[in-house]
Amino acid sequence: MNDELQDLYQEVILDHNKRPRNFRVLDGGRQAEGYNPLCGDRFTVYLQIDNGLIKDVSFQGSGCAISKASASLMTESVKGKSIEEAKATFDEFQKMLTGPTDAPTDNLGKLTVLAGVRQFPVRVKCASLAWHTLKSAVDARDEVVSTE
Ligand code: ZN
Repeated sequence: MNDELQDLYQEVILDHNKRPRNFRVLDGGRQAEGYNPLCGDRFTVYLQIDNGLIKDVSFQGSGCAISKASASLMTESVKGKSIEEAKATFDEFQKMLTGPTDAPTDNLGKLTVLAGVRQFPVRVKCASLAWHTLKSAVDARDEVVSTE
């Protein structure tokens, strides 16, 4: 990756950290809480599902810049998608963070700004926390998700 692109990616992450999208409580839907003890990131993901489609999704909480930006990007990414599509995106995102450097990222769109996290294994949990929490909200389990 060239420096210019790296800077651009950095900018997107900082922007989403500063002005997180869909950062609000959503009433009348499912929700789940996620916690990353390694870093102290803690988020609640709210979800409204209609006919297998993610009608609306939001989050609240606090954490490091990576976890917050990733949660913000996650809500933008899955809104309007079907549950299946969202799960497929999560799989691809997870592969980008933990897989070989040439793992396909065709369906990730803006989420590729987080590819640099791969170089920092501790940060992978920050980046994937919101996604694990989303998955838990989809399954509507009433428990705190831990990355441990
Ligand atoms: Zn973190």
